[in-house]
Amino acid sequence: MDVPFLNLRELNARYADELKAAAARVIDSGWYILGEEVAAFEQEFAAYCGVRHAVGVGNGLDALSLILRGYKELGALEEGDEILVPGNTFIASFLAITENRLVPVPVEPDPATFNIDPARLKDAIGPRTRAIMAVHLYGQLADMPGLAAVAKQHGLLLIEDAAQAHGAIREGRRAGSFGDAAGFSFFPTKNLGALGDGGAVVTDDAALAARVAALRNYGSDVKYHHPFRGVNSRLDEMQAAMLRVKLKYLDEDIQRRRLVARRYREAIRQPDILLPEVVQEEQHVWHLFVVRSSQRDALQRHLRARGIQSQVHYPVPPHLQPAYPMLQGIHLPLTDRLHREVLSLPIGPTLAGDAVEQVIQACRAFGCSP
Ligand SMILES: *Cc1c(COP(=O)(O)O)cnc(C)c1O
Repeated sequence: MDVPFLNLRELNARYADELKAAAARVIDSGWYILGEEVAAFEQEFAAYCGVRHAVGVGNGLDALSLILRGYKELGALEEGDEILVPGNTFIASFLAITENRLVPVPVEPDPATFNIDPARLKDAIGPRTRAIMAVHLYGQLADMPGLAAVAKQHGLLLIEDAAQAHGAIREGRRAGSFGDAAGFSFFPTKNLGALGDGGAVVTDDAALAARVAALRNYGSDVKYHHPFRGVNSRLDEMQAAMLRVKLKYLDEDIQRRRLVARRYREAIRQPDILLPEVVQEEQHVWHLFVVRSSQRDALQRHLRARGIQSQVHYPVPPHLQPAYPMLQGIHLPLTDRLHREVLSLPIGPTLAGDAVEQVIQACRAFGCSP
């Protein structure tokens, strides 16, 4: 039996009846942009995250980008300001920064958790540093109290890239509620995935929420009045309706992911495969289950030969991408090493028990056979 990395068809088939009913409701409404579904989803998602405001936008990159743009327009950031960001994140975190003519300053992660290491921030802070963009990579919360302490001490904004961590909890607070603002993605493969693109900005900051709400809609506050030069990046009614269905099942799905992760962590015993470290069960929602191996490529071939799909998140760090020639001189040995060693095993709320066992057996057999 082949084990897919993530079976989206199966994942959404569980709610097919509800999704189709929601789609029919939107079709029949005759209202497709910025209507009742988006407004209701914004309320429901804000309540879920434990924040006052959520603003639906076109995708996760725009969510992050519009937060930074909003802060620029509100006077908290200026062109050329530096933003601390984990070196080993997905490139979108960097793109949001550079799109706004701000400067990403990559910081090395704690290799045990893959998340930005607060102890390393001090060396990276300079006179132009204005913000930290924390990324809850692979679904585990970054050390938010540690980051908040540094942010407070140096007067920095704290922004969360929560695209991989919907629902992760620390001390009763959910991802998105720790920083000044957070960006979420609802790309179909994310833990809360739409059936197309989608994203949201969440924040307790009413001024930022209002500005982002205007910016996403041509910079308009009242129809045909444009105090700002905005963009077109709206969550649409259809995706909001899909997300309202799926939000109800998010916590259940997270529990299913945790069961898979727990089983992997107790049963994959192989000296060449390093398992991910968990700070605390609640803080990890297992968007990805990422192991490390000095023989990563051989491990991936070994799994593929046994019908098991795996992926690399990510093969090349942002600072070494051709898109960023100006960052290539930066020395990030830990980040570089992680990109050579990481491998993501199949995980998802519908991954069957026998598939999980098949992955475990294949990992255990790694290195034992040619
Ligand atoms: C997916 C992702 C994004 C971007 O989200 P999109 O909706 O694809 O634009 C940003 N940051 C991280 C960490 C992500 O995983």
